[in-house]
Amino acid sequence: MSRKFIVGGNWKMNGSKSQIGEIIEFLKKGPLNAETEVVVGVPAIYLEHARSNLPETIKVAAQNCYKVPKGAFTGEISPAMIADVGCDWVILGHSERRHVFGESDELIGDKVKHALESGLNVIACIGEKLEEREAGKTEEVVYRQTKAVADKINDWSKVVLAYEPVWAIGTGKTATPAQAQEVHQSLRKWIAENISADVAAKVRIQYGGSVTASNCKELASQGDIDGFLVGGASLKPEFVNIVNAKC
Ligand code: PGA
Repeated sequence: MSRKFIVGGNWKMNGSKSQIGEIIEFLKKGPLNAETEVVVGVPAIYLEHARSNLPETIKVAAQNCYKVPKGAFTGEISPAMIADVGCDWVILGHSERRHVFGESDELIGDKVKHALESGLNVIACIGEKLEEREAGKTEEVVYRQTKAVADKINDWSKVVLAYEPVWAIGTGKTATPAQAQEVHQSLRKWIAENISADVAAKVRIQYGGSVTASNCKELASQGDIDGFLVGGASLKPEFVNIVNAKC
């Protein structure tokens, strides 16, 4: 089963129009491997700006959205609004949403469901905290977080999973290729047993957590790693090398 490699850049709450201009320049210059799908996760206020300045081949994602189309939810944006400004992806369940803003598994499941119903593609993030890994609970946590999404949706064709161990995010501490592969492989097995063999074969699972130009090739060579979700390094020209990890 060949799964198209997909690399996401998660800019988080970084950037200004001028910095985004620089990022767009290095993305345009590339060259980016045409075999790899590229999605950049842009702060909501710059979505339309990024969309209108990036080549169509580079997809633009919001970094969050709410679970209903509209209403009295001050400060929130809806998937319909993301689509209305020409973007067709959203990142949901990022560990910062879970652990800084207190989003529950259930809320994230509802958001994924509503984003899919609104026609968006979703990068759904999962991953254990350091204390959970140390307590031997890595699998339990990623299965539980995946189940919370699986309970709410039937069609997985527009979902990408991003396995991001929280202890590796922004810390410079990457999971080793073997550690990442182990979780990706067992997650795929869980999906085969609890969702379907077809979804398990087709769903792309990105790895995220301190991915850089220097560690991306070895991670990309693992059989169950189908791409990356990149934070810090997605703001720098080395993101091009990460997109090209499979070359
Ligand atoms: P990092 O972030 O690459 O800076 O570790 C990854 C992420 O949060 O998606």
